[in-house]
Amino acid sequence: MDHYDIVIFGAGIIGLSVACGLQGLGLQVLIIKSDLIQTCLDTEIISPTTKHFSVLNPASQLLFQHFGIWSNILNINTSTFYRMDIWERDSSGYITFGEALKKNPSHPLGYVIENQKVHNLLWQHVRNLNNVTILISEKVTGVSFKNEKALLSFKENIIISTSLIIAADGAYSSLHQYVNIPLLSWNYKHHILIANVHTEIPHEETAYQVFHTNSILAFLPLRDPHLGAIIWSLSPKKAEYLAGTSKILFNEKLSVNFDVKLGVCHAEGARQVLPLQGCYAHKLIFNRLVLVGHSAHTMHPLLDQSLNLGLMDAAELIGEIRHLHRQGKDIGQYQNLRRYERRRKHNTFQTLLSTEVYYRTFMGDNLGKKILHDNLLTMVNKLPGIKSYLLKNTQGMINIPNWLR
Ligand SMILES: Cc1cc2nc3c(=O)[nH]c(=O)nc-3n(C[C@H](O)[C@H](O)[C@H](O)COP(=O)(O)OP(=O)(O)OC[C@H]3O[C@@H](n4cnc5c(N)ncnc54)[C@H](O)[C@@H]3O)c2cc1C
Repeated sequence: MDHYDIVIFGAGIIGLSVACGLQGLGLQVLIIKSDLIQTCLDTEIISPTTKHFSVLNPASQLLFQHFGIWSNILNINTSTFYRMDIWERDSSGYITFGEALKKNPSHPLGYVIENQKVHNLLWQHVRNLNNVTILISEKVTGVSFKNEKALLSFKENIIISTSLIIAADGAYSSLHQYVNIPLLSWNYKHHILIANVHTEIPHEETAYQVFHTNSILAFLPLRDPHLGAIIWSLSPKKAEYLAGTSKILFNEKLSVNFDVKLGVCHAEGARQVLPLQGCYAHKLIFNRLVLVGHSAHTMHPLLDQSLNLGLMDAAELIGEIRHLHRQGKDIGQYQNLRRYERRRKHNTFQTLLSTEVYYRTFMGDNLGKKILHDNLLTMVNKLPGIKSYLLKNTQGMINIPNWLR
């Protein structure tokens, strides 16, 4: 039976980020990687057909700078945006964030990254760390805890012992079933339609979000001034319809739904529909197992905070493990990890709550609601105090771990 100080279960962006942050401590780390995604240890992970983009905020930027890979991220077609416009269709409610930021380009509102490219970059980086071992395995068959150790067994008859298991295996984490962590989950009754689009009018490094009665259309600006990624939250039926409809009709609907703000839009490449599910783990630690990223929480992409929240989980956990290890304490003991749980639950809950309030306030055609959010948008747009707080929150600088400041 092999022993590792830490076993990271799942090699997504968050699991790999935790591994990056544990270098230089003398801790032996094992990453369990599912072979569901086609991989080859000597080359990068092969990209899927549809390009997926997410937002990284300046707090996540600090983490990647700390790993020494930020300049590489900027070199993989990452774009920067300084402004975000949010409005409601058929109403006067309109809000603009970040109009002053152009004057200070070192503090943008966020960066638009291609998920697969950042994932590949992290994978290349982690493979070269000499304290990290990779195990490709399809299925874990058991998790148990005894004698201050956790034991993981695999289908291939391998048993691994460790001081700490980090569950970074995403939504529907298979480790949940072994440790029975209570999970609150809900259905948004919306799917998201993802596509890359060409715009007639240049986006001017601005992200857009427009609310309709029963849908939300978001636009993330890419490096080319006429290219962007759309994330369209719709009823499952409408999403499937729009994904399957002709290009001409889709482009027409898209342009109109953006109030022709970006002129005539043309979808480029494939359109993809993904279901939306929210979940929140009531506990982040069970014995010697700790949850990070999507295994702990998923939410509506409305505020585009999911990836950033996961990265702050990683940052907080890295800080805690470093601190415990330097003090010669047990890195896997429940009591020693409680601070991680407290801090991350607080931040996650706040973000989840704001996302839910935002989402539920804007969805639906209730007249009272409509008057409320019209006034809300106009009021927030005029109040500099609230606006600058929301701006700081979007940039992720409020709940950043102390060691990263
Ligand atoms: C290709 C790609 C596309 C993305 N698209 C979007 C998007 O459209 N919108 C958006 O907001 N974010 C997107 N993201 C970002 C992603 O959702 C974030 O990374 C997310 O915030 C959480 O990441 P995670 O590492 O916690 O979970 P995940 O990214 O889900 O990673 C979990 C990892 O665990 C692995 N795993 C699962 N089960 C097992 C098992 N039994 N054994 C071993 N490993 C296992 C999975 O293969 C995966 O590699 C994408 C990421 C990638 C890599």
